[in-house]
Amino acid sequence: MNTKIEKIANRVLQGKGISYKEAHYLMGINGNEIYDLLYWANHIRYNSFKNVISLCSIKSAKQGRCSEDCRFCSQSSRYQTEISRFPLVEKEKISGAVERGKEYKSNCVGVVTSGYSLGGSVDFDKICDYVYELSKEEGISIHTSIGTITSEMAKKLVSSGVEMINHNLETSERYYPNICTTHLYKERVKTIEIAKKAGLKVCSGGIFGVGESVEDRLDLAFRLKTLDVDAIPLNFLSPIKGTPFSLEKALSPMDILKIIAVFRYIFPDKELKIAGGREENLRDLQSWMFYAGANSTIIGDYLTTKGKSPDDDLQMIKDFDLTYED
Ligand code: SF4
Repeated sequence: MNTKIEKIANRVLQGKGISYKEAHYLMGINGNEIYDLLYWANHIRYNSFKNVISLCSIKSAKQGRCSEDCRFCSQSSRYQTEISRFPLVEKEKISGAVERGKEYKSNCVGVVTSGYSLGGSVDFDKICDYVYELSKEEGISIHTSIGTITSEMAKKLVSSGVEMINHNLETSERYYPNICTTHLYKERVKTIEIAKKAGLKVCSGGIFGVGESVEDRLDLAFRLKTLDVDAIPLNFLSPIKGTPFSLEKALSPMDILKIIAVFRYIFPDKELKIAGGREENLRDLQSWMFYAGANSTIIGDYLTTKGKSPDDDLQMIKDFDLTYED
């Protein structure tokens, strides 16, 4: 057992936190000692969440034709990708997704729209109305991911019953221009600050395997910590034909488990959610994401790609002697 990892983990378990230097050391762990890193990450997860895994499903409510140029995304109008494109769906489709989410034991359903922002559009008012009606009818928490928001929009989301928004920082501020050039990192930070100030919870994380360095991963983590986000989704690039990242080399499953583990040391008691790319990248090691410290995952399909069968995911959780809210 690597005693330095053990010491760092024990300090995290005592609520003393972890420094950037220590996190950098953990990111450099290789070979058999990765198992020591995972062992303690699992302890930290168990200490905060016991055996309960949170599940979240998402619904693409408006897809494609996005003006932005996020280089991993199939929904940018700048790239030739094979996805279906559609305007804002009617309430019934979102209601159907909520019903399916409930069947899959989801704790929440995220309603996601493409584009920089829904600000000043009829679609924003419609989304607010849908959420208001559906959260009352369905008795499930409905979250939104609708791009950047203003203070006025944040207030309206709160009064419509939205508890949490998703708005990812994606990577470090330094590396961000390699991912997106059509809007600024500080605009993303601003949306998070506005949401927090309005009393919304914030789900914000990033994407890995897009050519970022270890330092970019850590800078993202510590920036999210400073912003006091409530849930951290970790996405792993699933290269999509037609996007600039289509030929990017995949991260190895052990590298991914290491990223999850180090994020758990940095965020001992926050929801750490494994989002896009787990099926293709973790392959047979998918259940290990929980041993690496994740306490949450997306269940069902993603925005433009298929997910694993929900029944198989629920079985995977049970097989690991973990549980979910039934
Ligand atoms: S990630 Fe969002 S903002 Fe960026 S291109 Fe895709 S839909 Fe547009």
